[in-house]
Amino acid sequence: MAFLSGPRLLDWASSPPHLQFNKYVLTGYRPVSSANECLKSLFYLHNELGNIYTHGIPLLCFLFLLPLNIPWAQITVTWLGVVHFLACLSPQLGSVLYHLFMNHEGGAPIYHTLLTLDMCGICMINTLGALPIVYTTLLCYPSTRSVALLAYIILSAYSIYCAVTARSSVRRLQSFAWQALFRFFFFYLRWVGLGTGSPTSLQQYFIMDFLALLGGLINITRVPERWRPGKFDYWCNSHQIMHVLVVGSIMYLHWGVLDDLLWISSHRCPVE
Ligand SMILES: [Zn+2]
Repeated sequence: MAFLSGPRLLDWASSPPHLQFNKYVLTGYRPVSSANECLKSLFYLHNELGNIYTHGIPLLCFLFLLPLNIPWAQITVTWLGVVHFLACLSPQLGSVLYHLFMNHEGGAPIYHTLLTLDMCGICMINTLGALPIVYTTLLCYPSTRSVALLAYIILSAYSIYCAVTARSSVRRLQSFAWQALFRFFFFYLRWVGLGTGSPTSLQQYFIMDFLALLGGLINITRVPERWRPGKFDYWCNSHQIMHVLVVGSIMYLHWGVLDDLLWISSHRCPVE
């Protein structure tokens, strides 16, 4: 697996205290490193390698393939396509930087800055990712739509504040609850016929939120490594499973938003 021979890896007890966040991952910790050494860790096996690549590979795929997959010529509200593209990139970007440089020699302050960046990436997809949903749901009510978009952005700013100041992963997950409730309200409007949108997208959004919630719960409960500590140090631990589920969740967001953007261009609102 390793292309380069890496430094001697540490066990949980001898890794820096700020990296001891999962007591069921017993080995494979990189030593404190310079930025250059962190970059070199892309090429040898350690316990963050799976986390880096499970978001690094999708990041590159989304960066180059998503713009080709969005039918720019057919969509009438171009800025929603741009916002959606940025939304899909943001969680992977923050995550790759966090996992790659978390053992930087700058220590705990650098670690916490990177963690904030990772949280901001998640907040950005929650925020930007939902704007096309809100827009489409209230397509025929322009003033209500503007107020709702503004309210969601303000609520999201509050969620970002809660997420970056949270002291545990449970609290971090809770920070996103208000955004989720707001989104569910819009799903409800569509469900009962008060909101508008593509008939196929609502199901995609439900699967999107289900996968994201499942990933968050698996990450919090540290399953499966809590059952066999040390067995999942390198592969298939809870955080990696969450990463994969998050990528799946983004794919469903993408399919739902594509359906909605195409639906907007073919829909005519009744004249008031
Ligand atoms: Zn992560």
